[in-house]
Amino acid sequence: GGGGGGGGKVERILVSVRLRPLSEREIARNDPCDWECINDTTIIFRNSVPERSMFPTAYTFDRVFWCDCPTRQVYEEGAKEVALSVVSGINSSIFAYGQTSSGKTYTMSGITEYTVADIYDYIRRHEERAFVLKFSAMEIYNEAVKDLLSTDSTPLRLLDDPEKGTIVEKLTEEVLRDWNHLKELISVCEAQRKIGETSLNETSSRSHQILRLTIESSAREFLGKENSSTLVASVNFVDLAGSERASQALSAGARLKEGCHINRSLLTLGTVIRKLSKGRNGHIPYRDSKLTRILQPSLGGNARTAIICTMSPARSHIEQSRNTLLFANCAK
Ligand code: ADP
Ligand code: MG
Repeated sequence: GGGGGGGGKVERILVSVRLRPLSEREIARNDPCDWECINDTTIIFRNSVPERSMFPTAYTFDRVFWCDCPTRQVYEEGAKEVALSVVSGINSSIFAYGQTSSGKTYTMSGITEYTVADIYDYIRRHEERAFVLKFSAMEIYNEAVKDLLSTDSTPLRLLDDPEKGTIVEKLTEEVLRDWNHLKELISVCEAQRKIGETSLNETSSRSHQILRLTIESSAREFLGKENSSTLVASVNFVDLAGSERASQALSAGARLKEGCHINRSLLTLGTVIRKLSKGRNGHIPYRDSKLTRILQPSLGGNARTAIICTMSPARSHIEQSRNTLLFANCAK
């Protein structure tokens, strides 16, 4: 998909699929893998159970990462180019999409680390510019936005700023001193997420987490002068709620109000991504959910997007794995 549409260049979404290894439990219960990677870009379903023949059996993406592929390679080939566009002043978002326990958090935390390491490396090699890095983190649960760097759990409001677009009111933004400072902040976020988990029952499978790194830079020779200009852009690392929530909400229809509400952000994201991948013709419903409102400046338009769809290779997860591949197909 991608391209076409009204004025301006629209960047295609980079879509890849990553399979995690079979877990010890899956191996112990003899839960086999029915998938096969025939090359770097195509995955096939090789167990042709007759009643499943209505589904396609081969799926092709920008990249397919097999079970033994290290996160470093997933980053290099599935996210790096998109994530690092932030140093040139281009907003970007990297998403992990997939069912609970398919490897979203594992994948996103590695990608976040590699990106930041590369950004610091870039800064070291560009002494002619002055950089300021800022970090913020939020969680969206049941359409309520929470600051993961604050112990105050009061939901944050979204405001419309004429220049910046949607902003999250009162969101903590920390100026990063160095790489260790970032690691500390990320562990604060993880602790905050864990607190929510015990009180709200498996929050992490129902909530979306956005870690945002904002980079400001300006040429040193013009610092403080009238003709100085500052480049500002953000890269968002988005660890989405388990995708089984979306399929549950869809199948339950109007009967399960709560399910629908919990998944409004995930469903709207799906719609927005499908429309963007078709070339941005017509209305894109960014405003229908908190997640898409917050990410609007980094989704579509000149922004760059990469989606890594994670899946379990096990037969017992076949339905969810198919749903994930169908979502990935719509995004490309
Ligand atoms: P999710 O965030 O989608 O619920 P996790 O990232 O928590 O899933 O992964 C579930 C489990 O599988 C974790 O124990 C994680 O360490 C492990 N895991 C996930 N992906 C991989 C991988 N590519 N290689 C090794 N272990 C993985
Ligand atoms: Mg997770």
